[in-house]
Amino acid sequence: MIKASCPICETKLSGRTTADLPYLPFCSRRCKTIDLGRWLGEAYHLPAEDQDDPSENETTEVP
Ligand SMILES: [Zn+2]
Repeated sequence: MIKASCPICETKLSGRTTADLPYLPFCSRRCKTIDLGRWLGEAYHLPAEDQDDPSENETTEVP
């Protein structure tokens, strides 16, 4: 018996084998996609923050 809860919507999951829960640890394909989207969103966000520091240095050098 497998018991888990979806990290996205917190739905309780249970099944006899992983075959019963194809989207583990998520309850559905939808929640798996949401998690992937969050992950990709963070990945895009980090380089954008890194670019802020060099641009600040450039503006201080201009005057
Ligand atoms: Zn879910």
